[in-house]
Amino acid sequence: MLEPLVERWAEDIACLRLPMPAFGGVNALILGPPGNRAIVDTGMPGAETATIWQSVLSDTAFGPVNGLVATHAHIDHIGQVGFLTRQTGAPLIMSKAEHDNLAHLVSLSLEERQALATAFQDRGGFPLEGRALPTDYSVLAPFPRPARLLEDGNTITLGGIAWTVLLGGGHSRAPICLLSLERKILLAGDQLLMGSGPQVPVQAERPDDNPLGDYFSFLDRLDGLPDDLTVLPGHGEPIRDFKRQVERIRSGHRQRLKLLRERMSGTLTSAEIADLVFANPSRRLRARLPYLTAAMTNYLVAKSEIQVCRTSHSLRFSRT
Ligand SMILES: [Zn+2]
Repeated sequence: MLEPLVERWAEDIACLRLPMPAFGGVNALILGPPGNRAIVDTGMPGAETATIWQSVLSDTAFGPVNGLVATHAHIDHIGQVGFLTRQTGAPLIMSKAEHDNLAHLVSLSLEERQALATAFQDRGGFPLEGRALPTDYSVLAPFPRPARLLEDGNTITLGGIAWTVLLGGGHSRAPICLLSLERKILLAGDQLLMGSGPQVPVQAERPDDNPLGDYFSFLDRLDGLPDDLTVLPGHGEPIRDFKRQVERIRSGHRQRLKLLRERMSGTLTSAEIADLVFANPSRRLRARLPYLTAAMTNYLVAKSEIQVCRTSHSLRFSRT
């Protein structure tokens, strides 16, 4: 395999570091020995990543691939699914909610996504300046249909390891996490990352979802797992002592919600709420604020802690 890009994370689990302009790259995992391989996540679309996969697969020692898991429908994880299913013939494995979401995103042109994003940001009162173009998922068409749709609690053997499926939520609709209690490993995709953790955004296409509620539920499920698991994430390094990171992420979200409750007065737009909660955001974070702030307001509306006042082209919030 391409030695500089491959790190051995366990005897039969390798991490292939794939390029991505942000986040210092994205991880694809290669499970199992030659002859019994499975791949988890595939990297960004485009020739640079495809060329890396081409070199991996052209190594005769690599052997056939028996399964291809796409943990979730974000572009940096599913960008090479089409290429890899064609090259390897491996069955594609996803969750139904992630595939449904992706099928919808792939069917939208960039102009249609842009129109949805514009309407969403306008309703939130966000300025035109600093907005980012949405990701164009139509470049992935035609996206292959999964051969197997996993549900929470399913079991599946990949790379010779028996896994239990844990469907997450919050960062995306219902991403696949794979748990091996025997091996003390959780493949978490983007559901658990270092730093402040994964972004938990509302999607412009589904403005009324409560992803932060879903994410807190997922973190609660992690509390119930053994302390000595190693978490293998979709970005960055393996996470040991993962419960400390769970607690750090949870308290970060709780802290922002507390700030919001304390500082909110009168009737505010989403953009005004963002200013209360996110101090000096970077340019990249600023572009994400409409979606991250909506996750907070939708969560507090669901808990009846704030109320929403809706007109045809604006949303405003006040304390209940
Ligand atoms: Zn992601």
